[in-house]
Amino acid sequence: MASNIANPANHLPYFFGNITREEAEEYLMQGGVSDGLYLLRQSRNYLGGFALSLAHGRKVHHYTIERELSGSYAIAGGKSHASPAELINYHSEEADGLVCLLRKPFNRPPGIQPKTGPFEDLKENLIREYVKQTWNLQGHALEQAIISQKPQLEKLIATTAHEKMPWFHGRISREESEHRILIGSRNNGKFLIRERDSNGSYALCLLNDGKVLHYRIDRDKTGKLSIPDGKRFDTLWQLVEHYSYKPDGLLRVLTIPCPHLGSENDVVFNTHPPLPGTPSKLQPTIGHPPDEAPFNPYVLQRKRGLTGAEKGDQREALPMDTEVYESPYADPDEMKPKNVTLDRKLLTLEEGELGSGNFGTVKKGFYKMKKGAKPVAVKILKNESNDPAIKDELLREANVMQQLDNPYIVRMIGICEAEAWMLVMEMAELGPLNKFLQKNRHVTEKNITELVHQVSMGMKYLEENNFVHRDLAARNVLLVTQHYAKISDFGLSKALSADENYYKAQSHGKWPVKWYAPECMNFYKFSSKSDVWSFGVLMWEAFSYGQKPYKGMKGGEVAQMIERGERMERPEVCPTELYDLMKLCWTYNVDDRPGFVAVELRLRNYYYDISH
Ligand code: AMP
Repeated sequence: MASNIANPANHLPYFFGNITREEAEEYLMQGGVSDGLYLLRQSRNYLGGFALSLAHGRKVHHYTIERELSGSYAIAGGKSHASPAELINYHSEEADGLVCLLRKPFNRPPGIQPKTGPFEDLKENLIREYVKQTWNLQGHALEQAIISQKPQLEKLIATTAHEKMPWFHGRISREESEHRILIGSRNNGKFLIRERDSNGSYALCLLNDGKVLHYRIDRDKTGKLSIPDGKRFDTLWQLVEHYSYKPDGLLRVLTIPCPHLGSENDVVFNTHPPLPGTPSKLQPTIGHPPDEAPFNPYVLQRKRGLTGAEKGDQREALPMDTEVYESPYADPDEMKPKNVTLDRKLLTLEEGELGSGNFGTVKKGFYKMKKGAKPVAVKILKNESNDPAIKDELLREANVMQQLDNPYIVRMIGICEAEAWMLVMEMAELGPLNKFLQKNRHVTEKNITELVHQVSMGMKYLEENNFVHRDLAARNVLLVTQHYAKISDFGLSKALSADENYYKAQSHGKWPVKWYAPECMNFYKFSSKSDVWSFGVLMWEAFSYGQKPYKGMKGGEVAQMIERGERMERPEVCPTELYDLMKLCWTYNVDDRPGFVAVELRLRNYYYDISH
């Protein structure tokens, strides 16, 4: 396990281990936040990575130090170093992107050891298992969920994950617990955990030689759980993990969880608890009525009384809670139509428009699928314009979309030729990001970071699959929820050929020039790197709450400004770390500009870092 590997920073007196960003700031405050005072800490989410906290101008700046695949260390986008110590030495001589030189280390006070995170590895596995079971995800969809929602998932795990576990039986009596353990197999070590009261105390019930033993699990003032005189744990998960591994005071180790067989009337099988404002995934189905749903002990939910996730806190919907996280065709019962053409009879359109363009209009509708009617957005071509070019454009767009399948990209459900040509897409109810932010000034910096990070994930996927978007802008990012963004509008997109990593346009078109990199304007060359430039502008728009970039300027003036080496200024609420990333996206030379792999990683690290 990674935690057993010697930490390459443990010997450094200014290394604090697994402390939070806030703790780092407190320490540096103690040190008087003099310019250049710094400390090093463990990255709390990025395995093997570090974070550098540096005081300057009475503020503390934080930089993520990544451990690169080669094993070296670098501040994202910067020079590589063999060890964290070497990196620190280097930046004591060269600011090279930092706000100032590292002048004075803030050393650990006497008696303070670097803080360790003993459950770091375990946590990774718990999160994976939890996501797999709760949303029934695997492969790419599972990885994307973990990367984009890690901070939220960690919090969920810590507070509610045990409710999903087969060994957790909720609020049942001592007698009932004995009854449950004694029916069926009587293997030594068979166990369950029951809730004793609503103050967070539990009991572990364990079968040993035909007798059920009951151990109290108390919660102390700091929220830690322990069997009296035993080790303390943050979560029931960790407690169960521990006692499954060694008895440590119990009569024996825990072996098999006591199942909920026979589903007594306080439990039902269900999918994830429905959230306010999100449609329940569980709709009566033709193939599998809910009461015939396959047994899945991880998705147990109590019928009476709410589960932790539903109690009071009413947590925000995660992308995975929505209906558009996975493709509808990921469901094996749902057949993808041949030639992507949909049956008009299965499509109903609503009055009113979601939006419009010179092609026609976008309307809301419903498309009837096996699991029920799915809300969709339908791009409808104007009938009167008998311009075949417009139809070709729509078909080209459909052709690109058909090849893409990622949670952070609007998927096409299919096309439909009827009273007009129609492109049927997943619905992103909250509409374009720029407009949403114009109307919702309360959206926090962290929330915006989460959304632009999701866009970078979608773009990384496009880059990997050799597509260029060519119209990446805040207006073309649509929101499913306030915490879930999808890239849309593939009208200008191109699949790159195997031998070229760019697309060369024949002539200048109706281009969104304020979003275009110099090589697009000068040489008509479009690559993922030119999408990175546009992404920088998109970030600027997002942190400016949907303002127009290069306000009041004409396209030609913008191009001249860029050629002079000038760039847009930092939006007021934009953290310096992310303004630095924007400017990196606006690197003039294509070869020096980062790709989406680097951009996504940098946003991810920053997002994780501010989420603790
Ligand atoms: P477009 O020409 O593709 O940018 O679409 C025009 C407008 O229609 C967008 O700005 C949105 O307001 C709306 N729209 C397009 N696609 C969707 C969608 N999948 N879900 C919700 N609204 C959409």
